[in-house]
Amino acid sequence: MNNTKIGWIGLGKMGIPMSVQLIKAGFAVTVFNRSKEKERELKEMGSEIASTPAELIQQVEVIIIMVSDDIAIDAIFKGENGLLSTSSSDKIIINMSTVSPGISRRMADLCAKQGNSYLDAPVSGSVKQAEGGQLVIMAGGNNQIFEKVKPILDKMGKLALRVGESSAGNTAKLAVNTLLAIHAQGLAEAIVFANKNGIATEDLMTIINNSALGNVFGKIKGEAIIKENYQAAFALKHIAKDLRLAKAEGLDTPLGDSVYQTFQKAELAFGEEDIISVIKQIKG
Ligand code: NAP
Repeated sequence: MNNTKIGWIGLGKMGIPMSVQLIKAGFAVTVFNRSKEKERELKEMGSEIASTPAELIQQVEVIIIMVSDDIAIDAIFKGENGLLSTSSSDKIIINMSTVSPGISRRMADLCAKQGNSYLDAPVSGSVKQAEGGQLVIMAGGNNQIFEKVKPILDKMGKLALRVGESSAGNTAKLAVNTLLAIHAQGLAEAIVFANKNGIATEDLMTIINNSALGNVFGKIKGEAIIKENYQAAFALKHIAKDLRLAKAEGLDTPLGDSVYQTFQKAELAFGEEDIISVIKQIKG
């Protein structure tokens, strides 16, 4: 499938490294981003630039979207010069953004009416995994379409798993990010408690990362936590958004409720900073 023409929409923290993986794998990638200055890096790597999503869909066979949220997806599909504003057929649209299951079902229906296919395929992992093609991809939608594009997904991830029909990928992602939020808050609470009682963050992280509780999250975020570097790799506003989506889908459990409350409050002060700034929220 290497001669498949790919269109990429959304060049944020994740969209850039993910699309670069496809260019490195030899795909011809045409890009579109709302803020045009972010297209420069891809242009320098040889990408074509489309001026609108409508222009993009005419030029490619597979469109991959990696943007913030439901509002962005609405704009890209239904806005002026959006994907649905022009007639097209036999295109495959893969939405890798973390969005609500509801918007995926609606967009899948609208795409089908045009004769196009839609897959939801959100990812677990952050910028480092995106740079290394090591994301975990969970997909929802037609199995034949999934198998057709799996060679493309495999260039961005170490695992691409179809978990059900349209929107199932989004639901799986909300479950995974609920656990991520619980883990991040748990780690924050352990650090705040340890610090209060005279234990240095660096020592605690060394112990955790060498113990049975050590995991990739602690290893990736460890240095930033120790140095109190809160610059966003995964902005806290995104996990706050994911917890709102999970809540709307029925998340109603003791830890689920707790992280929902914590991250909604933390977003007001630290939304643009990394998820680890929940430590500052817990510290109070
Ligand atoms: P980001 O850096 O904030 O980038 C967001 C992208 O969405 C930008 O390209 C932005 O365009 C575009 N966008 C936002 N609103 C838009 C609108 N109304 N119309 C058109 N485009 C719009 O986000 P990110 O960190 O790459 O995350 C992207 C998605 O992946 C999110 O759903 C996030 O939850 C999920 N995710 C992120 C991570 C992570 O570690 N960062 C990990 C897993 C999943 P502009 O450049 O014009 O602003």
